[in-house]
Amino acid sequence: MNKELLLISALIAISCLQISAQTTPYFQQTVDHNIHVQLNDVDHELDAEIWTQYVNNSPDELDYLWYHVWPNAYSSAKSALAKQQFREGDLFMFYAMARDLGGMDGLDFKINGEAARWEFHNAHPDIVKVHLNTPLKPGESIEINTPFHVRIPSGKISRLGHIGQSYQITQWYPKPAVYDRDGWHEMPYLDQGEFYSEFGTFDVHITLPSNYTIGATGDMPISESNNNAEEIERLEKLDLDTRAYFKEKDISGKSDNPTNEFPESSETLKTLHYHQDRIHDFAWFADKRFKVLKDSTTLPHSYRQVTTWAMFTPNEEDLWREAPDYIGAATYYYSLWNGDYPYNQVTAIDGTISAGGGMEYPNVTVIGESGSAFSLDVVIAHEVGHNWFYGILGSNERTNAWMDEGINSFNETRYLLDRHGDNGIDLDLFSSKLSDKWMERLDLSNFEYRWIDELAYIFPARLGTDQPLQCHSDAFTSMNYGAIAYKKTAAVFAFLRQYLGTERFDKAMQQYFEDWKFKHPSPIDMRTSLENSCGEDLGWFFDGFIDTAAKNDWAISSVKRNNTSTSVTVKNKGEMTSPVEVVAYNGDNEVGRVWVEPSGPGSIVDVVIPGSGTTNIVIDPGRYDLDYDRQNNNARTKGILRKVEPAQIRLGTRLEDGTKTQVFWLPAIAWNDHNKMMFGATIHNTTVPLRDLEWMVTPLINKNVQLSGLSRLSYHTGPWSINLKAQRFSTDEYIDDSITNDTDPAPMNRISFSILRKLNKVQNSNWESKVKVETVVVNGFMDSDNYSETPFRSSYSLAFDAIKKRGKLIGLQQEMGIETRQFITMENQIEPQPLGGKLLYQDVFNISTAYYEATKRISNSSKRIKLNILSRVIFHDEEVAAWNGPNNNAQIPTSGYGAQFDPMADNLLLNRGATSGFLSTQTQLEHGALPVNYFANNWMTSAKLEFEFSESLSVFAGALVYDDINFEPVAGITYDLGPLQIHMPLYSNEILAEGTSYEPYKHWMFSLNLHELSPWGLARETN
Ligand SMILES: [Zn+2]
Repeated sequence: MNKELLLISALIAISCLQISAQTTPYFQQTVDHNIHVQLNDVDHELDAEIWTQYVNNSPDELDYLWYHVWPNAYSSAKSALAKQQFREGDLFMFYAMARDLGGMDGLDFKINGEAARWEFHNAHPDIVKVHLNTPLKPGESIEINTPFHVRIPSGKISRLGHIGQSYQITQWYPKPAVYDRDGWHEMPYLDQGEFYSEFGTFDVHITLPSNYTIGATGDMPISESNNNAEEIERLEKLDLDTRAYFKEKDISGKSDNPTNEFPESSETLKTLHYHQDRIHDFAWFADKRFKVLKDSTTLPHSYRQVTTWAMFTPNEEDLWREAPDYIGAATYYYSLWNGDYPYNQVTAIDGTISAGGGMEYPNVTVIGESGSAFSLDVVIAHEVGHNWFYGILGSNERTNAWMDEGINSFNETRYLLDRHGDNGIDLDLFSSKLSDKWMERLDLSNFEYRWIDELAYIFPARLGTDQPLQCHSDAFTSMNYGAIAYKKTAAVFAFLRQYLGTERFDKAMQQYFEDWKFKHPSPIDMRTSLENSCGEDLGWFFDGFIDTAAKNDWAISSVKRNNTSTSVTVKNKGEMTSPVEVVAYNGDNEVGRVWVEPSGPGSIVDVVIPGSGTTNIVIDPGRYDLDYDRQNNNARTKGILRKVEPAQIRLGTRLEDGTKTQVFWLPAIAWNDHNKMMFGATIHNTTVPLRDLEWMVTPLINKNVQLSGLSRLSYHTGPWSINLKAQRFSTDEYIDDSITNDTDPAPMNRISFSILRKLNKVQNSNWESKVKVETVVVNGFMDSDNYSETPFRSSYSLAFDAIKKRGKLIGLQQEMGIETRQFITMENQIEPQPLGGKLLYQDVFNISTAYYEATKRISNSSKRIKLNILSRVIFHDEEVAAWNGPNNNAQIPTSGYGAQFDPMADNLLLNRGATSGFLSTQTQLEHGALPVNYFANNWMTSAKLEFEFSESLSVFAGALVYDDINFEPVAGITYDLGPLQIHMPLYSNEILAEGTSYEPYKHWMFSLNLHELSPWGLARETN
């Protein structure tokens, strides 16, 4: 761990804490830009110059300005963007050719015409510090001017880029970082949490070949010095041409550019001028293939007309025909709910974007390939919606992503429900993939689209990997950035709306818009606006749902039906203060509903719901309050088991349904050499998403009607997992059939109990670690030699494992762990009397294990090199010849536990106890053990170096040293087929000992990890 990493961890820890109250009065800087830029579409470059008027409205004297020169994020694998992409497994920048990278140069800052000293940030090539020649006092202003030259990177990297001659020009000019109440916000470009910028006026002149069409921020003022008059005429004509083209296409079915080719660039150039006040960014998109549709929408409050533009390539032109409708509707609804759109135009561009499905810039949004009309509508609504939540309300996305992505996602869901109706059932969610019949079969017919927002949160919450909404964008795992910052925020704001009622909620949101438009609101500012509007303390919402990952869980304690009302007692079993809605039903008809005021954890509240004939009570039937456990949300007013939901028995699994007691089954089939073919079923309660308490039983029967099988009971909460597992399969390992003549295999029972705790405090840290204690008991076999029955073995283990889970694709992946495990075997003599009950023997020993694995990808290929080191040592209290190992004493199997020696039945084996034949070669080779079969009496150490040619084939060489320095070199190949691995030594002492006959296949081994096939273990990673 280097200093930088330590610093980042500390910053992340701090940033997850609640933002403390600010004391400095609000101010914001005024930053006006004037840019002249020319596009070179042969070399894919921009030549430009910028003049920035910077007004210091802060109470502080400034000696320097931090500047973002974000095209440099694309300049090398050293930028924060490149590092973020590696972390997420995207290797494009790492292996990119120079021509795919980009950057900014030619900078020469002048302040009020005089040369200024400037330097790069010492960690980030995309930030510079410009020193002021004289300090800038409060209220003073300066002009900063510099030429700049941009090499436009490949559009495959992120959001500034080109694909051929299709240009996405975003984050492209030198731009001062924000200076606000909290000081400077200089930050490198990242495509997760991109924005925080100063408001001002933009005047931008763009010169480029005249047959390009541009979609950009801003209005197009007509003057002598620009070609805007001709361009506006040209755009009007493109609109008419596009409409005529579609009419023609409807008849002929012919596309005019089916291969999506770029026409030649014109020899002549044009200069277009864009102007816009009160914005904080400027982006433009240029393409020669664009078809154009111009339309307009009337705003709901001011009745002002806003022009809408759709610009698109032939790629998805049939979907984009309808885009003007989507753009207009999104502009209308967002205005209706939040406040009228303050600018004159909204443009949506069909772009070649590679970071996310779409991206927002003021007035203009870029949309990726969408695939369906519904998803084009969704993405356009979302990106247009960012004009409010990011554009007009310019919150800091890097630290408060929920304030733009999240609230915007709430509006997006609301937009889809309002526009597509049908009570919000499904919309395009499952019905686009499944027939009505399958929807019915899978119990999805009544699934409301909105519930996805809540489900997205429940998934990580149940896995213990969720994070608070109030978290730095870079501290979110990429999963949680979507699930928490977007979806959970959408769900919590839907809950706030349900609690306040639509009218109060909309009024409060409009108040927030009025108070903070064209400014930088913080979470506290938003809270103040909302509370002022609705006249109510919203602490429960902001302190609980926003600031923490605490869980909400209300339950029904009791129900009593009276003549004209129903008395209900509800309890807050969750970790946070929250209001709750309680509803009474008579069958399917609502009798009445009441809200319980926000109440803290542990609160028990009595409510009376007026109305007669109540048959059942439901807490939060609309699924708004992010209830962690809906199983305790239902009760009937009559009958026994009032709080038990009716059963639902289904094949496979289903989405979790709190109103049912869900039980699932799957047919099961199994084989091993003792039980032979077994048939049965897996019966379980695992839903989607996973539950905290899960159980599973798989009873299996063979043709002799012997009962075998597996079962499991697990409880998971946060970082904790508790597992109770039992299994029973036959073995003849311990039957002394020479005395009893008993040839039937005897059943062997294994019961284990484990407690596991994941230790990760920081969710997106590179390292993941866990500690696990486990106890295992094995019994059921018989040893008639000693007239004893029910001998048993037990084992206690304590293990710590750490894995570097990120950087799996590049960099060093590492895994290490230590384990200490005690084995006890006991046998009591029961016959002949009177000696029964005498302890025949007890043997105790301990095997301690340490392992290390390092994997490194070989640059620019899928080949990997892997190093394993494994050491084990036995501590043996008493040397008693009692252990049933191959040599009848306590030993370490050098290839790991397998068919020949697996005393605690850790593995599912095809022929437990086999000493010869193919099935006797099954062994687990855990922690990188070598495939050489010895039994060490005291200690062993092995090292293995493996070269993976592909996912499935590798060669290895290594050496094992054990006991009195027995040295065993071995080399061979491994064939990896997922759960099945075949190991074939080609060189070893054993093979050499056979002299002239070279028969390496005699020493094959295989590993079969059946636990790996279990979906339960896989999802939890707690096996
Ligand atoms: Zn967004």
